[in-house]
Amino acid sequence: MSTDLGRQGLRFAIIGGGMAGILAAIRLRQAGEKFTVYEKAGRLGGTWRENRYPGLTCDVPAHAYTYSFEPYAEWDAYYAKGGEIQTYFEKTAEKYGIMPHVRFDSEVVSAVWDEEKGFWRLGLVTGEEVVAEVVIAASGVLHHPKLPDLEGLDSFKGRAFHSARWQDDAPVDGARVGIIGNGSTGVQIVTALSTRASRLVHFQRSPQWIMPVPYFQYSEEEKEAFRREPALIDEIRNNKEYWDNIYRFTHAITDTHGPEIAAIEAACLDNLENSIRDPELKEKLRPNYRAACKRLIYSWSYYDAVQRPIVEVERDRIARIEPEGVRLADGRLHELDTLVLATGFHADRFIRPTTVLGRDGVSLDDIWSVRPTAYYAVTIPGFPNFFMLNGPTGPVGNFSLIDIAERQWGYIDQLLGLLRSGEAQTIEPRAEAHAGYEERRIAAARTTIFGSGCNSWYLDATGVPSSWPWSYEAFADAMSAPVMEDYAMTVEAELVAR
Ligand code: NAP
Repeated sequence: MSTDLGRQGLRFAIIGGGMAGILAAIRLRQAGEKFTVYEKAGRLGGTWRENRYPGLTCDVPAHAYTYSFEPYAEWDAYYAKGGEIQTYFEKTAEKYGIMPHVRFDSEVVSAVWDEEKGFWRLGLVTGEEVVAEVVIAASGVLHHPKLPDLEGLDSFKGRAFHSARWQDDAPVDGARVGIIGNGSTGVQIVTALSTRASRLVHFQRSPQWIMPVPYFQYSEEEKEAFRREPALIDEIRNNKEYWDNIYRFTHAITDTHGPEIAAIEAACLDNLENSIRDPELKEKLRPNYRAACKRLIYSWSYYDAVQRPIVEVERDRIARIEPEGVRLADGRLHELDTLVLATGFHADRFIRPTTVLGRDGVSLDDIWSVRPTAYYAVTIPGFPNFFMLNGPTGPVGNFSLIDIAERQWGYIDQLLGLLRSGEAQTIEPRAEAHAGYEERRIAAARTTIFGSGCNSWYLDATGVPSSWPWSYEAFADAMSAPVMEDYAMTVEAELVAR
C-alpha cells in the first residue's frame, strides 16, 4: 500500500448531498480536509428535494429538526413544511461554504477498494473515475419508491404516480383523487387535499395509530425574538419535555408491556374515540395491531380531514386498477382522475444500486444478501475507511434523524482521528465484533414493538426488525466513544488488531 498520505493528506468522498452529506461536508470543511460531495441530482436536499407532495411536513418539531450548530429563526410553525426544510439545507450549505465542493449530476455508480494504493476508486455516471482514501456514504434511506403490485395499474386513464414523484400538473383541485397508503406520507397528502379535491378516497389496507400532537404558527414577533436571541431556540431544542418524550418513546419500543407503550396506546385510542363521530368510520380507523409497530403517525388534523364530506375512507381490498379507477374486491368501482401511490419505499437499499467492492473484491450486495447491516450502523468489516451516516441498523422512529447523524459523525470523527494522525492507514471493524453486535441486535430486535406482528418497512426480508433495538440513551452512549478494541487497522500496510 502506498504510504505517501503524509504528503498529500486524506481525500474524502461524500456520497449524497442530503441532510447527512451536508453535515459531513460542513464538518470536514471545518477540519480543513479535502473533500468532494458527489450528488446524483442537480440540487442538494435529498429527501426534501425529492418529496414535494401537498401537505409535506416534518413531524419532528422544526427547531429540533435542525443542525445543533445552525439554529433557524425562520420556521413558520411548530412543524416545518418540506419546502422550508429544503431552503434551510440549501442556505446552510451556502453559509458553510460547501457549494464549491459539490459535484452535481454525478451519481456514484461504483466504489471499489484498491488494496495496493489504499484508496477507493469511485466510478461516476459521467464515466469518470475519482479516488479517495475515505468514503462517507450518506446516500439516504427512503429513496427508492415502492410501487404496489396491483393488476391493471398501467391501464389507468388518469394520472397515477408515486408520492415521491409528484406531478404538479396532475388534476387535484376540484378533481376526484384516490390515495393508496396511509403511512406518514398518505396521511399528510389526504389531510392537505381534503380541502382541495372534489372527492377524495383514502385506500387503507391497515388502519393506523394516530397520535395527536400540538400545532401552532410562530408569529413575526416570535421569529424576531429568535433572530435576536438564538438561545431561545436552544431552549426549545433542549426542552426537557421533548427529550423525555423521545426517551419514553424508545422505552416504549423496547418494553412492549411497559407503562410507556400503554400511555401511547391510550393517547391514540382517546384521540380516535373523541375525534371520530361516526361509529362506522371509527371502526374502519381502529388499528388491530400494537401502537408504534409501524411508524406512529403524528397528526393534528387527519381525523378532521377524513370527516369532511368529500372524503371517504376505503378499507375493502383493492382487486385491480381499471382505466376509470380502482375496482374493489366487493365489485364497487371508485372512479378517479388522479391516483397517488403513497406506498412507501424499498428501505433496504441504502447505497445500492451503487456497486461497492471492499477488500478482495467482496461485494456489499453479497454480504447484504440476507439483510443490510453495519457495525453500530456505521462501519463494515472488509470495507476499510468506509463510513455510513443513517446506515442500516440505526435508530428509526419519531425523532430527528439529524440528531442521529450528528451523533454518528461524532463517532466517525474519532475513528478518522487515527487516520488523520497517520496512526493508521485504514480502519474497519473486526468481523467478530460485527458478528457479535448483529447477534445481540437481532435478538433484541425480535422483542421490540416493531416485531410484535404487523407489516412495515421496519422489517427486513426475514421479518426481523432492521433497526436499533435499544434505547436512545444506549445509542447516544454507543456513539460517544467507539470501542477501539473492536476495530482493526492497517499500519504501514499490515492489518493488525487494535
Ligand atoms: P410507508 O410508511 O411504508 O406506508 C406505505 C403505505 O402503503 C402503507 O399504508 C401500506 O399498507 C400501503 N401499501 C403498500 N403497498 C400497498 C398495496 N399493494 N396495496 C395497498 N396498500 C399498500 O410509506 P410512507 O408513508 O411513504 O412513509 C415512509 C416513511 O417515510 C415513514 O415511516 C417515515 O419514516 C418517513 N416519512 C416521514 C415523514 C415525517 O413527517 N417525518 C413524512 C412522510 C414520510 P400496509 O400498512 O397495510 O402495509
